[in-house]
Amino acid sequence: MRRLFMVAVAGLAVVAAAVIACGVVAPGSVPFAPGVAGGIAVRPGAPLPMLQDIDPEDLDPARDIPGVPPVALAPPGGAIVQSNGIRIPKPAMPTGPRRIGIQVGHWMTDQVPAELGKRITFQTGASWDGVDEVDVNMDVAERVKAQLTARGYIVDILPTTVPVGYIADVFVALHADSDGTGEKSGFKIAHGSRRGPYEDKLVSLLRDEYGKATGLDWDALGISRNMLAYFAFNWGRYQHAAAPHTPAAILEMGFLSNDYDRELMVDKADGVATAIVNGIQRFLDEVPRSKIFGEDLVVPQQRGFPSPSPRT
Ligand SMILES: [Zn+2]
Repeated sequence: MRRLFMVAVAGLAVVAAAVIACGVVAPGSVPFAPGVAGGIAVRPGAPLPMLQDIDPEDLDPARDIPGVPPVALAPPGGAIVQSNGIRIPKPAMPTGPRRIGIQVGHWMTDQVPAELGKRITFQTGASWDGVDEVDVNMDVAERVKAQLTARGYIVDILPTTVPVGYIADVFVALHADSDGTGEKSGFKIAHGSRRGPYEDKLVSLLRDEYGKATGLDWDALGISRNMLAYFAFNWGRYQHAAAPHTPAAILEMGFLSNDYDRELMVDKADGVATAIVNGIQRFLDEVPRSKIFGEDLVVPQQRGFPSPSPRT
């Protein structure tokens, strides 16, 4: 039985390779999972025929666990390779109060799983004038949690390691920047390039509320590949990531190296937290849970296509 299973997996790898080569699934492909039509089912955690979304700095093989470079993986709910892209089945509809995950950037970076290799452990965060980024991130995260909990929501404060296939109504990773000179000021927000249909809205609402409340400028030029391929929502590369359906963004709250920005984040942290809460609240108000988790996603096999759209 086990042997048969291994053969099936090997067979899938061959089919998957063919899909990469041809770009399409051959008509009449025989699905091996019951109930799946018009595509090839890929088991959770199995390799996906999908180009990875990689931060260029991440290409240094020295950052891999030897012999185990990350590969694109099917998320915990599995995936289906079909002619128009990769279908991610909708997850079970969550129940209970709406849930928000706030990741504290750089918290417990020394305890990451093997799939992240050595690429995260050295990222200890910015530090300036005796202030460490991880402490600022944690302080703001706890204030965000207090405010949202008071409104009846459930808030998870998450370390660097995100639970496998993390499901929430919103996920926001908190970070602060440094330019090494003290000159730059401003904030920026981004979502991944292979995400669900509601993340543009999440980013724009957060941007609107954060800018309004803090008075900081939008640092558009500062949005890096490093942010777009951020590991905590890069589900096509890592299992320890927000699920494809979880609306997710990374927020760089300001520059620790800038006197104005730092004072804002350190001395007016409650206001910074309120700005984030207001953005999250607007998103929750505008996008019901039934929409977020109500449809399969179909994402392109290659990066750089328009945002995926919901599909019934
Ligand atoms: Zn950071």
